[in-house]
Amino acid sequence: MILDRRELLKVLGLATSGATLGACGRVWKVPGRLVERALRGPGLETFAQTICGLCEGGCGLTVRLFDDLPVGLKGNPKHPLNRGGLCPVGQAGLEVLYAPERVTGPLRRDEAGRYRPVTWDEALAEVAARLVALSGQRQGRRVALLSGEPGGLFADLAARFVQALGSPNVAHLAEPAALAYRLTQGLERPPGFDLSHADLVLSFGLDLFEDGPAPMHAIAALIGARPEAARAALIHVGTRLSPTAAKAEQRVAIAPGTHAAFALGVAHVLVREGSYDRRFVAEHTLGFDDWTDEQGRARLGFRRLLLERYYPDRAAHLAGCDAGRIVAVARRLARATAPVAVADGEAIQGAKGTWTAIAVHALNALLGAFDRPGGVVLPAPISLTPLPPLAEAPGGDDSLFAPRGAGAFGDDPVEALAARVLDGSTPVEVLFVVGANPLHTSPDADRLRQALERIPLVVALAPFLDETAAAAHLLLPTHVPLEAWREATTPSGVAFSTLGLAHPVIAPLHDTRHPGDVLLELARRAEGAVGAAAPWPTYQAYLEHRLTGLAAAGQGSVVAGSFEESWIHFLEDRGWRFLQHNDPAELWQDLVREGSWWNPVRSPGDWARLFPHASGRFEFFSLALERRLVELGRRESDALDSAEALARGVAALGLTARGDEACLPHFEPPRATAEGSLPLVPFRPLTARGSLAAASPMLLEMFGYPVLSGWETWVEIAPATAAQLDLGDGDRVAVESGRGAIEAVVRLKPGAASGVVHVPLGLGHRAPGSPAAGVGANPVEILEPVHDDLSGMLALAATHVRLRLLERRRHGGPAPLEEAHG
Ligand code: SF4
Repeated sequence: MILDRRELLKVLGLATSGATLGACGRVWKVPGRLVERALRGPGLETFAQTICGLCEGGCGLTVRLFDDLPVGLKGNPKHPLNRGGLCPVGQAGLEVLYAPERVTGPLRRDEAGRYRPVTWDEALAEVAARLVALSGQRQGRRVALLSGEPGGLFADLAARFVQALGSPNVAHLAEPAALAYRLTQGLERPPGFDLSHADLVLSFGLDLFEDGPAPMHAIAALIGARPEAARAALIHVGTRLSPTAAKAEQRVAIAPGTHAAFALGVAHVLVREGSYDRRFVAEHTLGFDDWTDEQGRARLGFRRLLLERYYPDRAAHLAGCDAGRIVAVARRLARATAPVAVADGEAIQGAKGTWTAIAVHALNALLGAFDRPGGVVLPAPISLTPLPPLAEAPGGDDSLFAPRGAGAFGDDPVEALAARVLDGSTPVEVLFVVGANPLHTSPDADRLRQALERIPLVVALAPFLDETAAAAHLLLPTHVPLEAWREATTPSGVAFSTLGLAHPVIAPLHDTRHPGDVLLELARRAEGAVGAAAPWPTYQAYLEHRLTGLAAAGQGSVVAGSFEESWIHFLEDRGWRFLQHNDPAELWQDLVREGSWWNPVRSPGDWARLFPHASGRFEFFSLALERRLVELGRRESDALDSAEALARGVAALGLTARGDEACLPHFEPPRATAEGSLPLVPFRPLTARGSLAAASPMLLEMFGYPVLSGWETWVEIAPATAAQLDLGDGDRVAVESGRGAIEAVVRLKPGAASGVVHVPLGLGHRAPGSPAAGVGANPVEILEPVHDDLSGMLALAATHVRLRLLERRRHGGPAPLEEAHG
């Protein structure tokens, strides 16, 4: 039965929003049996605790059900991450569930390129036959898997499945940028930033409340869970007047790509004025003062580099701001009792992004912000049952995703896949794409499409017929979050451990499966070593198995009662056993009922865990970076001494730094802007979080809510820049780069840095099966193929554009919403 949204909400007895409904006018596809049951009259109202699952943020979700039919969503107030908050994407969970565009059963593309329905048995038999054949020929390495699915436990299962086939080719697109923390701290994942206890957060480029890894947590930690008088101050350094920047106590507008210069200017003032943490620096860092290495060579220290190169006038000149702002921010930091610095978003999305993250993290070391409340900490490990080692696990160095070109330490996995398939260096015969849409998120979609055409079997696991699914041979439709078992482990950057568990609050509406169940079924059909490596009958059983370790460890607690109660209980108990869960079955049941577990306990003084690399210290002078630069230099000649090899390695990356400076936090200037062009800084609005946001008309309606815009792509520019270009608010323009052009509407943004063009990501879908097909434009299509020097990841903010007037619409105010999507 098809109901439009207004009818459905009426049936379900829900309040309606005139603005949203007026814009949507779209049907929800609700199975007739469920509607008939709802029409029989008021039924039993129940609530279920689960997790949102629509992005990596890990928020707890309370689902309101009438006779087992989900009718309302709100944030779970018990959940320690979001404490009742729910972003618009989370609130769109019902639209995603009932979206009429969902794929209702497996599809196989025929020779004419049309999709035709097949059964699960037919689809899985075809894939399994390929896998068995490749395995039998010891060609398992011709299998590859790209995943954008959030969840660490799914990532483990996917990696195990691929490795058991004999392939090292697995990449997770959702993994956070961690290289700066590897080079300075020796960590493989970013550490936690204890926003809940910080009294001053210095944010470089990060739109904490919209685009951070866990925005609802940031809002709770900095605002919602604190009395007004105890809230942390926020200083934002960046180019865009984001919703977070607009709420900051201070905001410093700088030139794009110069965040590191500002950070190093602040570091200079802290050192020059003696306001840094001398004890921490002396006891827990390496490379602050000039030093002598094991070969007796004199090496440059961070202090000298700072004092000679980053005095405020020069740093301000580089960053395009006033030197007084640098001094003021440094002195404000020095007065704070628990300051912390974070970098993300636009600050790390240029070609020099990893260098910027290193420079900002050096501020934390000068502030002694490690291992203290309000600083940089490590969440306690989650004691999951480990997976038994595989008899033969292919090495990651052989992976087609291993670094070979773009960056010193890595490559963009999607581009690596396209390059190595097209040059024939790594043949791929079966590619799984799980919960990701790289044809929409990669700038060289044509090249990727060509690569996909060369792969004999591309299997997409997704709930919608998006661009990548439309290019696959097989589309295996997957559950959406409210229908599935899934887990969410601690989001990147959060200071305490969390584990959310989602259970199906409604039976799947269509003939869909969880990607984990698909992989387990394929492993079963492949038999042999693959079947033995993944013996769980269902993904639920796999999760239960992994979580038995939690009960045995006796740490943490299922969150019960109000959040504050559990916190108080926790503090009272200190021994961290106020809810005993020695029995794994009991823990599982409680976790299913309550939806979340957490462990805020830290182990202070565990420096070996905080700095696990060989030095055991925060490395201002990164030894891993030096080793890699020397390695790069010796590609030319093995005979080079280490100083010469370092110089050659630095030259190979095209750095402006020289010698030891390259191994220290320093500023690498962004690409120069050509005459008449402006730097393009794309950003991800809150309404575009996760891979399923485009399924919701409500989100499309409010897509650009900060500029009163919906159903279209806009460019944000400062009024002064608009005046120079003779553009006004509401004008339609072409945004042109060397790669192409997109259309957008001008929105003036007082407070944005001059001379910068900001464009939102998330729109411009082309696949006809996408609910957002034809809405807005995708700025990724006009990005230059520029990569981060070190991580090799695509640099989103390294393209320059021109704005060409297409249509002068109106000046003086935003276009009314009804015109914007009309
Ligand atoms: S979409 Fe992400 S941030 Fe929003 S409520 Fe869901 S998990 Fe939280």
